Amino acid sequence: MEILRTENLSKIYGNGNARVEALKGISFSAGKGELVAVTGPSGSGKSTLLHLLGGVEVPTAGTVRIDGVDIHTKTRAGLAVFRRRQIGLVYQFYNLIPTLSVEDNILLPMRLDGRRVNRDYLEELLCLLKLEDRAKCLPRELSGGEQQRVAIGRALIAAPALLLADEPTGSLDRRGSQEIMALLKISREKYRQTIVIVTHDRDIARQADRRVELRDGRLAGEW
Ligand code: ADP
Ligand code: ADP
Repeated sequence: MEILRTENLSKIYGNGNARVEALKGISFSAGKGELVAVTGPSGSGKSTLLHLLGGVEVPTAGTVRIDGVDIHTKTRAGLAVFRRRQIGLVYQFYNLIPTLSVEDNILLPMRLDGRRVNRDYLEELLCLLKLEDRAKCLPRELSGGEQQRVAIGRALIAAPALLLADEPTGSLDRRGSQEIMALLKISREKYRQTIVIVTHDRDIARQADRRVELRDGRLAGEW
């Protein structure tokens, strides 16, 4: 079943002399439970693509459909709610709230929506993240790998259909990176998310089901 589809997605930043065509008509789709890696040189448009898929940036042209919904036709408020429920976002630098515990960081998106969390689900998620004995720690007490697992927990707490990760292993060593990839693979088996990960690390990309290569804002093919 297809969960994600873009049609002719384009993005131009700025105007006049400062105009940058970051994406030039990207059409691609991903199925439920599929792990897709987006690769390509620096500046090829990988982060822009992820931001358009996540509703963080607005396309100049083209559409993004998630589970059939054209996300960019939603109102600002509607999109914010949709994002918190259906799209998990993970970045290279974990973006945790330093004053909140591991558990409170993970629960944040639910609290922003006034939603209750099933305690069993939270416990299950903490186990999956291997953070069960870290729940009350502050981010600064954790290793980089652990902090990234908290960020992934925060992205997964609402059980989104789509998980988007921009260089999630970019700040981690080999072992930390492998742990994150293992976690993503277990999560999509268990919860059947579609996962799109941007990476310039070809060993990481090889672990995905599919690899799409961007060059200069265009899809250069799959490898
Ligand atoms: P990648 O993730 O592959 O490195 P990006 O999507 O970050 O590529 O960038 C693609 C192009 O768009 C680059 O030329 C970059 O400089 C430009 N770009 C990205 N974000 C912005 C922005 N907010 N404003 C202007 N130009 C941008
Ligand atoms: P890794 O070997 O994964 O890179 P570190 O060497 O940074 O991790 O940390 C090893 C262990 O020590 C981790 O379990 C981490 O939670 C813990 N730790 C790291 N820094 C601190 C700290 N400032 N306070 C408490 N525990 C810490």
